[in-house]
Amino acid sequence: MTSIISAALIVLAIALYLSIISRKSKKVKKKVALAEEYGFREPTTIHPKIDPSKCIGSGACVKACPEKDIIGLIGGKGGLINASHCVGHGACAEACPVGAIALVFGTETRGVDIPHLTPDFETNIKGIFIAGELGGMGLIKNAITQGREAVEYISCRLGADKGRAEAYDVIIIGAGPAGVGASLMASKKGLKFVTIEQGDVGGTVFNYPRHKIVMTSPVELPLYGSVRLRETTKEALLDLWTSVIKKTGLEIRTGEKMTGLAREADGFRVKTSKGEYPARNVILAIGRRGTPRKLDVPGEKLPKVTYSLLDPEQHRDHHLLVVGGGDSAIEAAIALAKQPGNKVSLSYRSDSFKRIKPMNKTRLDEAVSKKSVTVILNSNVKEIREKDVRIETEGKEAFINNDYVYIFAGGELPNEFLLSIGVRIEKKFGTE
Ligand SMILES: Cc1cc2nc3c(=O)[nH]c(=O)nc-3n(C[C@H](O)[C@H](O)[C@H](O)COP(=O)(O)OP(=O)(O)OC[C@H]3O[C@@H](n4cnc5c(N)ncnc54)[C@H](O)[C@@H]3O)c2cc1C
Repeated sequence: MTSIISAALIVLAIALYLSIISRKSKKVKKKVALAEEYGFREPTTIHPKIDPSKCIGSGACVKACPEKDIIGLIGGKGGLINASHCVGHGACAEACPVGAIALVFGTETRGVDIPHLTPDFETNIKGIFIAGELGGMGLIKNAITQGREAVEYISCRLGADKGRAEAYDVIIIGAGPAGVGASLMASKKGLKFVTIEQGDVGGTVFNYPRHKIVMTSPVELPLYGSVRLRETTKEALLDLWTSVIKKTGLEIRTGEKMTGLAREADGFRVKTSKGEYPARNVILAIGRRGTPRKLDVPGEKLPKVTYSLLDPEQHRDHHLLVVGGGDSAIEAAIALAKQPGNKVSLSYRSDSFKRIKPMNKTRLDEAVSKKSVTVILNSNVKEIREKDVRIETEGKEAFINNDYVYIFAGGELPNEFLLSIGVRIEKKFGTE
């Protein structure tokens, strides 16, 4: 009798366990379907690859991931949900008790181009270095460290010769974490250098969603000291950069874009939107996100204007304008329209969406027929203001209410630039 009761209890416990797993799986599957719809399934940087034959479904990776809904358990095994939101913390791999997670670039179906670098961050072109996320390894601490180390190496190689030539010892392009780390070290080592940044100091951190929690590890900033941050916010991190610049007197030429890089007999010539600089070494710390094409209209610098959509869920009851006619614009408009209370308009300068995925066309047609997205074809944004946007359509101008503007007008990707100057790039397909 006792053994029958024990067996029944075991069966009941197993049934309960399986039903909990199935319920949780269903929730995760729904999130995966939504991520598919929003176009969030392709990882853009280093990310976890989970080996299902080793995974025991402990869920430690899900708990360890500091971002939201990147990993989940489906059928008792770990899997990726919003893969494109992964920033490569690697906390999941560390937490996995059975070593089922490897950190990889690219996937079997979509390769990721990573420049080939020496351990000192030099490319195949002697004198051109890459630090930070452009080299494939994301995260703020890694970027700072790589920028710092690349300059240490350059300084060592220049030896007593530093500051002697007419050309700059090093020109640093980009003032995100890698560029700031490199610049501080260049200043500490007494190098003749200049740092050029197309936007403002801070890099990608500027584009994080408001109040985003940022996870990082303590890091040493030359001339400033140790920064003991572990968990902070976007705003606090940007404040930190401001105080670093103030304390160290670092000069960064903001609002200046590198437009070209040519080899010369004794080094390089860096061309920018404001001039030309001779350089013995160049550090490219320009990240992987490229330069989004701007509309060049008044008001485009307002903080409500962005060039990527990271978190559609932060918008509720907002008037939103998406500008563009490609897949990114349409996926953004649809994602925003799914949030409660939003009023989404999609402005495109042509008379139809010609080059989009058929699935996006179908979804957009559905959204238009449900009136959750208003499409404004043959239109051009003329001015962006705090509370509205002036749009011209076939010669007529109108103001539409607006809280946020998302612009997807294409842009230049850094890999195209790297290839054009002869930097060797390798394609990685999700292998270690
Ligand atoms: C949503 C999100 C959340 C993240 N959360 C975290 C987190 O919590 N913790 C963490 O450690 N990391 C996080 N990351 C990753 C981290 O932000 C990046 O790894 C890091 O910013 C990379 O630094 P970087 O200096 O290499 O490049 P970037 O920060 O991208 O900086 C590159 C700079 O170069 C400039 N530039 C580009 N082209 C040119 C040009 N032609 N001329 C002049 N300047 C140019 C850009 O304007 C930019 O300022 C997150 C990333 C994202 C997208």
